[in-house]
Amino acid sequence: MIAPLLLAFALAATAAVPTPESHFGHRMGEDRKLIDWTRTVSYFEALDAASDRLTMRKLGKSTGGRDFIAAWISSPANLRKLSRYQEIQKRLADPRRTTEAEAAALIAEGKTVVMITCSIHSTEVASTLTAVQFAYRMLAEERPKFRAVLDNVIFILVPSLNPDGVDIVRDWYGKTLGTPYEGTSPPELYQKYIGHDNNRDWYIFSQTETRIAISQLHNQWHPQIVYDVHQQGANASRMFIPPWLDPIEPNIDPILAQLGNMIGTGMAADLTAASKKGIAINSIYDFWTPARNYQGYHGGMRILSESASARLATPLNIKTADIAANGNGYRPRESSWNHLEPWLGGEWRLRDIMEYQEIAWESCLWQAATRREDLLRAFYKVGQRAVARTSPYAFVASAKQRDVGTLRKLLETLAFGMVEIDKAPAGFTAGGKEYPAGSYVIKLQQPYGSFAKALLEKQTYPDLRQYPGGPPKRPYDVTAHTLPLLLGVDVEAVASPFEARLARAVNFDELPKPAPRNLPALRGKRVGLYRSFQPSMDEGWTRWIFEQMQVPYESVGNAAIRAGNLRARFDAIVFPDQSPGTINYGYRPGTMPEELTGGLGDAGAQALKAFAEASGTLVFFNESANFAVGHMGLAVNNALRGVPSRDFYCPGSLLNVRLDAAHPLTAGLPPVTPIWFETSPAWEIPEGSPARAVAVYPENDVLASGWLLGRKLLSKRAALVDVPLGRGHAILFGMRPQYRAQSYLTMNFIWNALAAAGAP
Ligand SMILES: [Zn+2]
Repeated sequence: MIAPLLLAFALAATAAVPTPESHFGHRMGEDRKLIDWTRTVSYFEALDAASDRLTMRKLGKSTGGRDFIAAWISSPANLRKLSRYQEIQKRLADPRRTTEAEAAALIAEGKTVVMITCSIHSTEVASTLTAVQFAYRMLAEERPKFRAVLDNVIFILVPSLNPDGVDIVRDWYGKTLGTPYEGTSPPELYQKYIGHDNNRDWYIFSQTETRIAISQLHNQWHPQIVYDVHQQGANASRMFIPPWLDPIEPNIDPILAQLGNMIGTGMAADLTAASKKGIAINSIYDFWTPARNYQGYHGGMRILSESASARLATPLNIKTADIAANGNGYRPRESSWNHLEPWLGGEWRLRDIMEYQEIAWESCLWQAATRREDLLRAFYKVGQRAVARTSPYAFVASAKQRDVGTLRKLLETLAFGMVEIDKAPAGFTAGGKEYPAGSYVIKLQQPYGSFAKALLEKQTYPDLRQYPGGPPKRPYDVTAHTLPLLLGVDVEAVASPFEARLARAVNFDELPKPAPRNLPALRGKRVGLYRSFQPSMDEGWTRWIFEQMQVPYESVGNAAIRAGNLRARFDAIVFPDQSPGTINYGYRPGTMPEELTGGLGDAGAQALKAFAEASGTLVFFNESANFAVGHMGLAVNNALRGVPSRDFYCPGSLLNVRLDAAHPLTAGLPPVTPIWFETSPAWEIPEGSPARAVAVYPENDVLASGWLLGRKLLSKRAALVDVPLGRGHAILFGMRPQYRAQSYLTMNFIWNALAAAGAP
């Protein structure tokens, strides 16, 4: 029985919660209406002021200087004791300091922590609007389900993992509204450096937004569920939810994978019960790379939903014939166990996306509430299994390395992911090998040992085929993530326990930061970095690396290159990994405002050739090298051109190449170097060509980590060639030498090329 006075008070408090309409001036999900970040932040501030069910915190500044915020939503009683619930999470996360009996009491007392993160991909606009609407409803509506969630769950809501992008997309949408370009994506990266790759940053932690989310949310709160809200293309299922497709990365505890199957299937059931059609599970998205899955190695479930998109906030009318016939793992027009009720066309608008998302969020939170004790017990159990791991015993990184700067990078990366690292003050022997004083030891019997193991070992990606003997099944992303190979650090797994005096390493300041060996020579160079109108993530990653490494550069666009006389301005011009078509043509006429259309064309190719002939250095990364070959007439061929995937396939792996030690591009690199191969050319040098192979694939032992089909087609082909052009050079990379700010070892090729640039 609720006392009448308290009831009156509760109603008064509810009435004071401002509606989204009153704050933004329109309903959330209205056609052609997006919201800006400043007002989104002030709305959550207003909710915080009006309700004792929500606490908002500003956690730092985004790359572009906007507030990065999170809201904690729970019952008023729970919010008053947030620090207690945080402490319970920390105790359950580390079974070494929490006995079974203590854990039982903490499980009875604790709450499920669920984090929902929105709009990391800024053109996937709906989820920030859903965050506003859903937060309002949880504060204002007196529903028994919400009451159960408030009582049993600490719900951490991140209205955007990329606040800058909310405004970048909204501004572009506003500018193009009512024009033929309404609903197009903005002609710039919606995260300054890495654009859409920002959800591939969850183990290298390069960007500010990633670092805030990890250090202030994941590592502080150890959520049992982290649900990242996305959108997919318009013409297939209306929403994807886990279970995932194979493969499941073997270092993820099966308990977490299984619980994810359960929660995802529950969400699908609740959507179907709410008459929402087009729900697909167990399709398209696999569970392999840690680049998108930090929580999977930290005791948390990864839930993803991918909603069908509209054209930003512009509605679509989709005909049945426009629905794709085939999807990966299901057929969008047909019913199957994992796609029971197809959606066969009709109107599709922002508001529809929001409605699906609201049902999915409520389902996820309701399951987290009703299974609170089971989920907390499973969370503790995952930690117990992690600290009881027996093989391998440890990884050891010697203090003696080719580049101690990248050793520091490796150690800092693991430590940021809460991996405990020890340092040996004296020499020791492990696995039959002697290590000098100052070497580092990562024992795997620790709560986040699986994170270290996943990143330190070599990947063996399963040979998945579309049918027996058929072409390969495409992975959703890449297949390798072995940091020691990418960074060029020697790290060895030691199978059995060994004796060594060890002390916890808390920072790595005695090691220098990673830097090019030849930085002084680089500082004097005039480097141009090609920037097309069509945004390129690899261009952004290159800018990021140049800035981190203090290598000076200047962005250079189509018009400046086509104008020629480039040697007066630059010693080297670098082309990021982009398709030759994008470089040559850019946006086609009619697809974007006229001033943004066009590419380098023939005039650009001729100007580049003249630049090289006048002693300039051209550097082409990966696919852009095909532009040089196709449009500048260089005498090399891509041996993989037109080869079908059943004969050759390598969708993002580390491959070994042998280097020509006498060539200046290879200075400071080991004789056999692992390179990042991803839709890369492999060069064949015709007889009589002046081109020189700098890095060549061996006949055997090509695959270093990941997946490779058809290695014979690589045999004796080159992954790096130097093509003399007049008094200058074109350097063609058949690899991504600065791959996602990870392949520090092969960045040395770039530094060597730039350091030598412009020399006669
Ligand atoms: Zn997305």
